[in-house]
Amino acid sequence: MSNYIEKVLTEVETKNSNEKEFIQAVKEVLLTIEPVVNKIPEIEKTALLERLTEPERIITFRVPWVDDNGKVRVNRGFRVQFNGSIGPFKGGLRFHPSVNQSIMKFLAFEQVFKNALTSLPIGGGKGGSDFDPKGKSDNEIMRFCQSFMNELQRHINHNLDVPAGDIGVGAREIGYLFGQYRKIKNAFEAGVLTGKGLEYGGSLVRKEATGYGLIYFVREMLKANGKDFKGKITTISGSGNVAIYAAEKIVQYGAKVVAMSDSNGCIYDDNGIDLDEIKRLKEVERLRIKEYLKKHPTAKYMENVQGAIPAVYTIKADIVLPCATQNDINLECAKMLVKNGVFAIGEGANMPVDIDAINYFIENNVLLAPAKAANAGGVATSALEMCQNSMRYFWTFEEVDKKLENIMVNIFKACNETSKEYNLGINYVACANIAAFKKVSAAMLAQGII
Ligand code: NDP
Repeated sequence: MSNYIEKVLTEVETKNSNEKEFIQAVKEVLLTIEPVVNKIPEIEKTALLERLTEPERIITFRVPWVDDNGKVRVNRGFRVQFNGSIGPFKGGLRFHPSVNQSIMKFLAFEQVFKNALTSLPIGGGKGGSDFDPKGKSDNEIMRFCQSFMNELQRHINHNLDVPAGDIGVGAREIGYLFGQYRKIKNAFEAGVLTGKGLEYGGSLVRKEATGYGLIYFVREMLKANGKDFKGKITTISGSGNVAIYAAEKIVQYGAKVVAMSDSNGCIYDDNGIDLDEIKRLKEVERLRIKEYLKKHPTAKYMENVQGAIPAVYTIKADIVLPCATQNDINLECAKMLVKNGVFAIGEGANMPVDIDAINYFIENNVLLAPAKAANAGGVATSALEMCQNSMRYFWTFEEVDKKLENIMVNIFKACNETSKEYNLGINYVACANIAAFKKVSAAMLAQGII
């Protein structure tokens, strides 16, 4: 490691000592970009890495709301505007009890690189709240979203910062957030949020985009390594937006999905998962995945055990798609997956594989599609939604899907070319980091010390 990178890493660790997810995300990037940092002396001269690892702005705010029993509740809201050198800050909102500043900063930091890889003009940000949507009534969700937007609206607009969904924030929440924004501003500014409903400025394919995009990227990665999806046994962690549409697309390519999960446990169905039933349970009824057994009594349910490998990763599979949350796969889990014959991992979630597990997969020739590249289809399609909003027009499903596919193919190409240029083999994690860093650092250098 160069002295400069080591110095910056130590500073980041010291300054943010209680932010372990953020430190992990920074480490993963800084440990891979040395070949570029060494080539361009201006990077050190302008303290570019120090600036790159410090958010432009962090906003934290109080979110008071009243529950159905008339009790006042208070949550904490966040928006991290990390790096706007390429375009307006762009990144989702996460509503989950685990949300804290470290998680917000790691997600926003990753978003900077991911958005650069899309080649579209969007900077990186992220936001959310420690609010837990589970078990809340529709009215409670609405009142929370309205209170959240009462403050967030001061800090966003289509030229400044454009939020979207993430864990716990789907079409319903975006609807309530947009409604409140519109009421406060007394204007229909469609481009301020993405992931909107199709009736009021949303884009076709946005719902499917992250999952479909993941499979387009993995398809290219397999192709480049002489492999394909046909007949491959696949397991997917999560059963939310990313997981569902990754499953839909990979099945279209001839793979068989045998397991999906939620935070309680996983279902295993040897006949192949009935995706319509998963959509009904998760998108419509908002039930636990265990309910799958009511319609499919021959399937099995395996409960997660605290501290043990999540049940879904104990199942034998050729391809594994972690599409739930960060740090789902550690070294112990990676070892089990390799022993069970996995040959490809596609990161649908952000940072689902920790650094030791990434290294273990690469050492064992497992193809790993890194999140920053592989799940960029969601934000890319969000940028296409902004584009359609600016034009006050819309594209057909086929048109958006084609654009998404081209973007994902081009992201893989960028990774593959970087692999050749820097002799990185199948280390696509390093490839994605380097390709993205080149673009962000060039934009930052061009704009001076700001
Ligand atoms: P959803 O809220 O739709 O689904 C999340 C899924 O992951 C649920 O099945 C949920 O289970 C599970 N999950 C969440 N937290 C945990 C946890 N701590 N442990 C185990 N399981 C958990 O979210 P998305 O599908 O939108 O997001 C999934 C991942 O993909 C996240 O990492 C997100 O950042 C990333 N991502 C999402 C994009 C998008 O467009 N939506 C774009 C790019 C990345 P349960 O219901 O039990 O909580």
